[in-house]
Amino acid sequence: MRFALTQISYLLAAGLFVFSLRWLNQPKTARRGVAAGVAGMAAAIFGTLLYPEIVGFGWIAIAVAVGTIAGIPLSRVPLTAVPQRTALSHAFGGLAAGLVGTAKYALWLPEGALTPFRTGAIAIEVLLGFLTFTGSLMAAGKLQEVIPTRPITYPRQNLINLTLLGIAVASGVWLVIDPTRWMLFPVIVGLSLLFGVLLIIPIGGADMPTVISLLNSYAGLAAVAMGFVLDNKLLITAGALDGSSGFILSVIMCRAMNRSFTNVLFGAFGQVQVAAATGEARPVKSATANDAADYLEHAARVVVVPGYGLAVAQAQHRLREVYDQLTKRGIDVKFAIHPVAGRMPGHMNVLLAEADIPYESLVEMDDINRDLPQTDVVLVVGANDVVNPAARHDKSSPIYGMPIIDADKAKMCLAIKRSMNPGFAGIDNELYTAENTLMLFGDAKAMLGEIAKALTGEGGGGH
Ligand code: NAP
Repeated sequence: MRFALTQISYLLAAGLFVFSLRWLNQPKTARRGVAAGVAGMAAAIFGTLLYPEIVGFGWIAIAVAVGTIAGIPLSRVPLTAVPQRTALSHAFGGLAAGLVGTAKYALWLPEGALTPFRTGAIAIEVLLGFLTFTGSLMAAGKLQEVIPTRPITYPRQNLINLTLLGIAVASGVWLVIDPTRWMLFPVIVGLSLLFGVLLIIPIGGADMPTVISLLNSYAGLAAVAMGFVLDNKLLITAGALDGSSGFILSVIMCRAMNRSFTNVLFGAFGQVQVAAATGEARPVKSATANDAADYLEHAARVVVVPGYGLAVAQAQHRLREVYDQLTKRGIDVKFAIHPVAGRMPGHMNVLLAEADIPYESLVEMDDINRDLPQTDVVLVVGANDVVNPAARHDKSSPIYGMPIIDADKAKMCLAIKRSMNPGFAGIDNELYTAENTLMLFGDAKAMLGEIAKALTGEGGGGH
């Protein structure tokens, strides 16, 4: 009876996890996806708690208390800090897998219960778990800028890293052959911890979101190995879902930046950034909020390109006000969504959803690019790299080949940002000096607020 109940709750949990991922695919169903994930996890915990003799309620209560105390402040970070918060979650996941593997090895060794299969699964779990732990901590540190975000490189780096990984894998294989050679175990643990650090330090801060989703996939694979160690099918299923979705997301992000996996992992992207931000000064035309309101008001078709600056300024609600004013006048307003705008996948979708901007007005990059030549005004709000035309034609540019939103092809471009400073890739953007571009210098929230005011006829724009 108890066995059947556990199996049913595990089956329910696995189904809910699959639906959760499916629903998280669309902003419309994302909330339902989160609820399904939470319900799935509750079902999984329920099924596991039916075996108190294995798990021990006392330990679980302590873990729940510690998890809650650490989790609540972590859930309150601003949206812009979500990538590093996610990295911390992966670090905990990796650490948990590594510790479970270590505990199982220590328990099974004196009992002589270490079959080659179990030892192999433990070795994989420990290797992936601990490297995910330190790797994710490094990624979080880079994103939070507590450690240098620039790539830290030294000669023969890739060779040294691969050699260390090779020694760790060879030690694992040796342990499978002879599980009683326990001194190999700390070697695997130590090398995995070290490899996690060395794998991440040569990668620049700009690539951290991609690296984080890759580490997500490692944490998932560590959970799969843990499932084999603990003989828990749900853990295997959930780990596989986690591992594959993390991997797919990394592939999508690499494609959106026109980078290959090897380039992200071994390319030390970001080194060129400072040097690239040069180029002759071209005249910049600036305008006021009142001018901008005037142009927008007289347009039939407006496309808004949101970027990282919108998130920094938390200007989504002001943007909504401008949107309301324009749509009220019958103007067609669309939002162009670049897959890597902001600092994490779906960043712009989440921001715009916060301001209740209708999903139907959000258009993916490829679709909106077809409409841009017929667009009267494109309003760029705190976006930079994702609208940089150099990506199309400048072979020397670090973002060359990255698909962009063709804001420069619209009849007119209004760009809100505080200065002529570059964006994340650290390079100049010729869009801002183009013939048909007017710069609106200022904080996005303040500037959009003034434009909204001017549109409502309250005046007080930037004159
Ligand atoms: P971006 O290129 O980083 O540019 C953001 C711009 O916002 C800056 O030029 C900045 O100019 C402006 N800004 C900052 N604070 C502002 C404020 N308070 N008010 C107004 N403007 C403000 O951003 P993006 O165009 O969204 O491109 C994203 C970049 O991140 C890409 O290079 C992408 O490859 C990278 N990336 C993203 C992801 C992802 O998952 N989304 C993953 C990996 C890498 P001022 O300082 O002059 O104001």
